[in-house]
Amino acid sequence: MSGAGEPALSHEALRRLDHAHLWHPFTPMQAWFDEDPVVIVRGDANELIDDAGRRYLDGVSSLWCNVHGHNHPALNAAISRQLGQVAHTTLLGLTNVPAVRLAERLAALAPSGLTRVFYSDNGATAEEAALKMALQYWHLSGKPGKTRFASLVQAYHGDTLGAVGVGYSETFHRFFRPVLADALRLTPPHVRRWRDRLSPADALARAVAEAREGIAREREVLAAVVVEPLMQGAAGMWPHPPEYLRALREATTEAGVLLVCDEVATGFGRTGTMFACEQAGIAPDLLCVAKGITGGYLPLAATLATEHIHDAFLGPPAAGRTFYHGHTYTGNPLGCAAALASLELFERDRTLDRLGPKIDRLERLLATAIAPLPHVADVRQCGVMVGIELAADVAERHPYPAAERMGARVTVASRRRGVIVRPLGDVVVLMPPLSITGEEIDRLATVVRDAIAEVTGA
Ligand SMILES: *Cc1c(COP(=O)(O)O)cnc(C)c1O
Repeated sequence: MSGAGEPALSHEALRRLDHAHLWHPFTPMQAWFDEDPVVIVRGDANELIDDAGRRYLDGVSSLWCNVHGHNHPALNAAISRQLGQVAHTTLLGLTNVPAVRLAERLAALAPSGLTRVFYSDNGATAEEAALKMALQYWHLSGKPGKTRFASLVQAYHGDTLGAVGVGYSETFHRFFRPVLADALRLTPPHVRRWRDRLSPADALARAVAEAREGIAREREVLAAVVVEPLMQGAAGMWPHPPEYLRALREATTEAGVLLVCDEVATGFGRTGTMFACEQAGIAPDLLCVAKGITGGYLPLAATLATEHIHDAFLGPPAAGRTFYHGHTYTGNPLGCAAALASLELFERDRTLDRLGPKIDRLERLLATAIAPLPHVADVRQCGVMVGIELAADVAERHPYPAAERMGARVTVASRRRGVIVRPLGDVVVLMPPLSITGEEIDRLATVVRDAIAEVTGA
């Protein structure tokens, strides 16, 4: 419970100091002060352990990033080995062994044609790099007028200003609107199905027609369409069928617009395949990965580009075509070593082969135990990404008043039962590590069912 050589702090002291000095992300701080914080001191496979020794199933993979479980001996060893060599050196003017090896592995694993790897630290920075690459690519290709982006309604691409511009959410971003670049918003099939109550087929047809029309109309000014393939995570787990992604690929290719796939959440097995794009049989021009890349151990991200895009930046240094962009910790050797070890585990443990039955088991439990609850309005699943939408009136799809914080209350009720989940508004998110066992899937579903039943009075 204590750092090396430091005296242990009591829970009381930790709470006091946390409340005095920490500003938690995405956290209404006034409500935080009323709670006794859970202090995590250790991880063990798919469980987290607090300072009182209580064990919790990590039902959201520590914010969607853990893949093989916590405190994994192979990942720990890989990081320690690299630490015995060097913790960090720069990729500005130098290179390093894990960064080189990982780039080769990523290029081999990614959808075809994505052969260039640009490292950064997190999902938002991977997105920023992609946006700036797209803008500079068009400028260097003699089309400086292509400066606008298109993205899906309620898309989330990170919290930096450029990423917020393509990923607008009213709740999160309204204060920043005046300084954001205005993206063309495409309405995804989920909105047509859920809000407009169209059949899945009609919802898809409407969304495809709107996307095709918008992309074609704006082709002279559009630099890129940015999309979270198959599942819009932070929107509240909004799925779309592979056909929609394929239609976006076709429409962008026809219109001469780049396609950026943001696989920050969906990458590394989340949707059942290594990358979600595979399920649509498409390859984007730029691909952003982060969250799961290191197995959820260290902050690392990558933007993958085609050789064609990369080559547009070539020329004598004096020609000024260089991509002048980067971060201090770009290509960090510890992060790259963790990522290499995580990819080795995918092979050694046949992680993706073993995931199929887990996805099916989760699907069955969602259908039998959770979907029938009277205040569950919709259950959406893509692989091991799940959103359970709660509603005050399911038939009318009337939401609960926001002030009731139903999603947050389900989280607290689940935690009391030994499971950590986190909501997106009134959507309860399940996103366990890919290493979750069958029994743990049962535990996750049972606890969340009981928590929803308790909170909704069902
Ligand atoms: C989480 C997320 C991001 C942002 O990643 P950070 O590492 O939090 O900056 C971007 N895009 C998607 C789809 C995400 O889910």
